[in-house]
Amino acid sequence: MWDQNLIEKYNVSGPRYTSYPTALSFDKDIKRILLIDKMMTSASRSLSLYFHIPFCAHLCYYCACNKIVTKQQSKADEYLELLEEEVRLKSLILNDTNRVTQLHFGGGTPTFLTVNQFKKLFAIIEQYFTLDTSGDHDFSVEIDPRQVSSEHIDLLVSKGINRISIGVQDFDLTVQKAIHRVQTFEQITELMQLLRRKQINSINFDLIYGLPYQSLNNFNLTLDKVIALKPDRVSVFNYAHLPERFAPQRRIDSDTLPDAKLKLELLELATRRLLEAGYEHIGMDHFAKPSDPLVTAKLQGRLQRNFQGYTTHAETALIGFGCSAISDINDAFVQNHTDMNLYKNSILNGQLPIAKGYIKTQDDIIRHQIIMQLICNLNLDISAIEACYGICFKDYFANEVLLLQPMIDDGILNINLTSSSYTLSVSASGRQIIRCICMVFDKHLPQRTAYSKVI
Ligand code: SF4
Repeated sequence: MWDQNLIEKYNVSGPRYTSYPTALSFDKDIKRILLIDKMMTSASRSLSLYFHIPFCAHLCYYCACNKIVTKQQSKADEYLELLEEEVRLKSLILNDTNRVTQLHFGGGTPTFLTVNQFKKLFAIIEQYFTLDTSGDHDFSVEIDPRQVSSEHIDLLVSKGINRISIGVQDFDLTVQKAIHRVQTFEQITELMQLLRRKQINSINFDLIYGLPYQSLNNFNLTLDKVIALKPDRVSVFNYAHLPERFAPQRRIDSDTLPDAKLKLELLELATRRLLEAGYEHIGMDHFAKPSDPLVTAKLQGRLQRNFQGYTTHAETALIGFGCSAISDINDAFVQNHTDMNLYKNSILNGQLPIAKGYIKTQDDIIRHQIIMQLICNLNLDISAIEACYGICFKDYFANEVLLLQPMIDDGILNINLTSSSYTLSVSASGRQIIRCICMVFDKHLPQRTAYSKVI
């Protein structure tokens, strides 16, 4: 249910909670040995590997990612050598855990790598890890439709890639020119047909609202095309214009951006059109077809959230490789250098390229559990939290309970108290502002201001 007044009232800046605490809380002064020790603790869980490929052949003006824009393919050769050494160093401390059930290539543009470079990367991975495709594996890659060949797809499929995310953003040519990312409907249609022929049954489209020259009319036409192509998942992200922080955004004329009112209308339009087309609202900005595993996981209360967004596999230990990559293992976050020279120098000196990290406290673990339950299930089982962590919710979260009261009064949250259970549920009107509800439980938030609006 779309309640404009409530959305405007609660539309403040806040994190997307792909982790708790978020990366802004990571500490560059933390002792490396403590983080390495956490990584060494034997994890019997299977692994989720993330590889960051930071290169892009073209610059999108809306970009806020960690990337290097270059046409020099040889830079990727050099980077692969660094990755190989990082994989070797990390495999030494991961003890006997090497079974991989989740694998993700992000960037940058992963398909900046040529087919041969990608083959080399898979050879490195397979030398140290076992890619387990025997069960419910989730191997994915982000694809730039302007930079991918059928040979890429053949290789990726042969290695077990079963999910592909395509950066669509918007189909309107004027919008595409303004963001310096021109890709035709025909290009994406051909890519979709190729992926379907290769039996890729999970294709995600990323869309962005709030881009220059977007209007209700032209975004509606974009949504017509998206719906016609039938992707399995659609993500509708908010463009946050922060040119003082992200240099590429200075090339976007702020006078051409939709105002706050129009942005809300664009999101409402996308939400309505996708729901009418039969997609389920997974949460926040994610939609999926009813047959998608995310919908099943949501119905069964198994939905999780990690750095890639909503997922069915967050129980794995995440190990990140490459510039800026983050690992999440044994209650610790470990982030690599974002600066390529620092990353390179660490590796060449035989050291893990750790820039900063964070070791979660018991309080972080409790709050993480609460935020994930709310953001994934729209429900908080307070009785289960009390039993699991040995706390009295009302005492432990006395301040938070006070902050929740106005939300209960506004009908965003409902308290359900019976003789056997005590739960908090998010109402239909609270779904769009779930981040605000989560923020109540975020103890790290007061000193943080660098977030985009929740809508
Ligand atoms: S948006 Fe993606 S493809 Fe475009 S410059 Fe940024 S990382 Fe590269």
